Order: sequence, then structure tokens, then C-alpha cells
Amino acid sequence: MEERCTQNGTGTLESVPTPLPSITDVSDEALARWLAGHGEPPYRARQIRHGVARSAAADWGGLTDLPLALRSTLAASFRWSSVELETEVASADGETRKALLRLHDGHHVETVLMPHHGKRDSVCISSQVGCPMACAFCATGEMGWIRDLTAGEIVDQVRFWQRELRSGDARVSHVDYMGMGEPLRNYGPVMASVRMLMDAETFGISPRRITISTCGIVPKMDALAAEGLPIDLAVSLHAADDATRARIMPVDRKWGVDALLAACARYVERTKRRLSVEYILLAGVNDSAEHAERLGRKIAAHGRTSLYHVNLIPVNRGPGAFERPSPQRMERFAAILERHGIATTTRISKGQDIAAGCGQLKVAEGRAAALASCG
Ligand code: SF4
Repeated sequence: MEERCTQNGTGTLESVPTPLPSITDVSDEALARWLAGHGEPPYRARQIRHGVARSAAADWGGLTDLPLALRSTLAASFRWSSVELETEVASADGETRKALLRLHDGHHVETVLMPHHGKRDSVCISSQVGCPMACAFCATGEMGWIRDLTAGEIVDQVRFWQRELRSGDARVSHVDYMGMGEPLRNYGPVMASVRMLMDAETFGISPRRITISTCGIVPKMDALAAEGLPIDLAVSLHAADDATRARIMPVDRKWGVDALLAACARYVERTKRRLSVEYILLAGVNDSAEHAERLGRKIAAHGRTSLYHVNLIPVNRGPGAFERPSPQRMERFAAILERHGIATTTRISKGQDIAAGCGQLKVAEGRAAALASCG
């Protein structure tokens, strides 16, 4: 196996074996060439893609639709998955599960499964290792950006849960790009993964059941709108004035509240999808009646309020030592938004006891131990 040198966390060079390509990162053209080179008919490509997306198998050996010899050759050429389970924890009620997945270069990402009373199985997936956006309340932002994920590494998080669910005869129904990273800062691979998940012959997940979350990368929000896909967009606003928002979200210095809400209005206009505004409530920072009034007025100034839904999220434990507001303050905030005609939900994160709040995921050094201690 070929070897290459890479820098480890201590700044010294170490040798890392170059892995086989993961099948989810192999393009259709490359797979077609590979099949032709091995004397296989073109229809095998769809068989392989279908099996990779739908099978509960742990490796190539489980694709029993394929001849044994072909399975062996595939195993010698392509990795079955680009992620491996490092460790997994479940919330106290056993419902929400969080997995720490290891990538080929030793980095890790987190992904969360959130079942909803047998009606749907949502997964929250990561798009980057770490995140460059440095939001003050976010554990992932504290890590800084380490690298972007490939499309295959993004999709393989969904496959991971798909395999786990298969034993119970369920399937992943909804996918939220709300884990580690800012999806719109890894636009190409994220969109490639969305297209893979939407493929009716493989994963078959409707774009209406896919949500992309952003802290407000305005040009990429316009690019996403121009894709012409009815994907749901969730925008992390967290304050409706630039002074407060810039204090907790550095992105605001580049694209302020008005520019962001104007981009939201364009997205809604173009896609006809309702837009979620995420608002983490931080006691004494952004939770006053004045903040709520301003948020209501700002949303109303940027389009029909019926097209927006505000999710109020009391802050999870994390960096910045932020505190949750009292229940009375949260209720007052929600009531003010309702008076402005804005549908509002106060969302207590599922799986809070395992630090599963999206955008709050943290992979610390000594990862397995840190994750286990979250429960
Ligand atoms: S909240 Fe989202 S965008 Fe902000 S630092 Fe965390 S992962 Fe990045």
C-alpha cells in the first residue's frame, strides 16, 4: 500500500497509508471505467449503487446480488465505507443516539439519530471537521476548521444510521445538515451529497426532507436558491441587530442582519419553501423583550411572516459560559413573536444529556473518552 507523510497534532511528520477510495467518492464515470476494465456489463453500476445505498451489510460480502468474484474484486479496489464507528452514546430515554465516526486520516465527526415516535427517523450530519465560523456559543466553532468532508464522507454518515436502523426495519427519512461545520462553506461536496441522497434509485430521500443549516453565507444562499431544489433552509440568526449578533457570530461582520434577511426573502421567493430561523436564547445577551420586538419587526420587514418559522433554542452547555434564560423569559420572547404573527416553537434539544444539540457537537482531544463522558 502506498504511503504518504502528514503532520500530526504535535507538528511532527508521520506516515499514513493511502486508503483505497471509498465507493461513495467514486464518480459514475470512474465506476463505469472500472467495470469495463474488469469485463463487467454497464448495468452492474446501478446494482452496485443500489446495494451500497440500501443494504444493511457491513461490507462488500453482504451484496449477495453480485457474483462472489465481483464482490472480492470490489473489496480489493474500493472501501465499503469512509467512516468507522469509534464510539456511540444514547440519551437517557434511549431514543436519541450520537455516534463518533473515524475518518481515514484519523479525524472524527459526530452524527446524531433522532427518532420521532416511530413517525420519522431524522439524522443530523456533519459537513466539515471543525468549523471556521467561530460562533461564540459553539463547541465545534471552538475547534476551528480542520478540513472539509468529501461528498462520500457526508453520505456515509447517513448510511451508517441506515445500517443501524435496518435491524428494526426502519429507514432514514429526514436529513439535517446541522452537525459539525458550515455546510455552505463546503458547497460543492455538500450539493453532491444532496444529489446522491435524492437519487430515487438509491437513497430516495425527498429534497423536502432535507434541511441545510447556515449561519448566513449570503452568496451561497443565493446559489442554493438557484439550484431549483425544494430543500429546506434553516438560518441561524440568534440576534436581529448587528451589535448583538456580531458579538456572538463573527460572520455578521461580513453579512449583516439586513443582508441576511434579504437573502432569506429571496430564498423563500424562489423556492416557495417556508424558512426556519434558528434563535439560540442566551440569558442577558439576546433574550430581552426588546430583542424579541426587533426580531418580529425585522422579519415582517423582509416578507410575509407566515413564510418564517422561528425555533427558539435555549443554549446548551458549551463554550462562552452562556446561561439559559428562565422559562418565563423564554415564554415572553415567544409570545412577542406570536403577536407579530410569526409561528414560534421553543425547542428543547432532544438528547441534551449527550450534548447532541446540532451545532453544539464537540469532538475533544481524547475523543472516545470525552464522548463517553457526555452521557
Ligand atoms: S454554530 Fe454552526 S456555523 Fe457556528 S461555529 Fe458552530 S458549527 Fe460553525
